Amino acid sequence: MSEVNKESGEITIATDEGTGRIIKARNIIQLLMFSAESPNILKPFPHLPLQDRVTIESALKQNMLLRQKLLDAFPGREAGIDTERVQNFFRDYNLRTCPFIFIESEAALGKLESEYKQAGVYFHPFFKVDDWQALYEREIDLIVVRTDKGLSQRPKLDQEWYLAHEQAHGSCGHGQCKLMDGDIFRPRVGFSISLNETDQLGDFIEEGFADYMAGLYRSKFADQETLDKFNPYVVGKPTSLDVSVDFEIDGISIPAKYLAIDETGEMVDGVNAFPAYAFELICAARPKFLEKALAARSNPAMLTQVAKEINALTPGLYPALRELKYESAEFRSGLEMVINSLGESALAKNRL
Ligand SMILES: [Zn+2]
Repeated sequence: MSEVNKESGEITIATDEGTGRIIKARNIIQLLMFSAESPNILKPFPHLPLQDRVTIESALKQNMLLRQKLLDAFPGREAGIDTERVQNFFRDYNLRTCPFIFIESEAALGKLESEYKQAGVYFHPFFKVDDWQALYEREIDLIVVRTDKGLSQRPKLDQEWYLAHEQAHGSCGHGQCKLMDGDIFRPRVGFSISLNETDQLGDFIEEGFADYMAGLYRSKFADQETLDKFNPYVVGKPTSLDVSVDFEIDGISIPAKYLAIDETGEMVDGVNAFPAYAFELICAARPKFLEKALAARSNPAMLTQVAKEINALTPGLYPALRELKYESAEFRSGLEMVINSLGESALAKNRL
């Protein structure tokens, strides 16, 4: 599966998802993180130099100490948000759950930063960008929720919907670890993998999975307030969020559960609605797909099976989806690819 270039020391890893694409990396090890508090090295590549292994192990330990410190220092729940219900939803699918921490003010964000600095752990610039509300922090395996940037003004179910999306990312119980300039970096989250600082593969499938699961959650716990918001967009009154809504793509409707409505009642262009609906369509077309995708959260060997299921719709579909960048136009084209792969009968079903 992997080989080393003796001259450069670079490890060439053929991706195990059957795409033929080669990922080159230095010093990647596989981690098993069923117990997030103590990530065990599952499969260090045998040529990993001892010194690198020692560096990786001590950095992992440092990250886990920081993780525990943050769990102790920040609230793990928030009034009005049923974090337990979100986690139980994932437990019902036999998925591991990841804890939340809540950042409630600018001062709390400053405290977060100083904790990272004290621990010597890289504080990612995305924390300082203003427009995030919840994110899965892969390096320390925590879901960080920021409530002072508008999240707490959102309806309760919307808040939990966002948390469920991040919880889906955090449901991945395995990973890889890469050493870069003395710092460790985890390139894989579920179906996505970072090739370097800017290039990612697999975002369409990972975001599709996350928003599909979050959509199931939102639909299961749909309240009247949420249902009523879709009144202007459907014929009659919706009784469930599974109802289809005419969205941006001509002739295609998308289930309401993936679509956000803002405070003014306007539908928001949610980039993840496209891969989420694509994921749902693949589940419907391939009866074993969901089971395999869920199994792949805890067993990396199942990633190949997921790729095979998608390629069974149309040869080459998986690698094509895997290349798509995390942006609206690309994700929309991914949904179109999936719909086109389903054939005429499925397509007709999805026409308004
Ligand atoms: Zn996401």
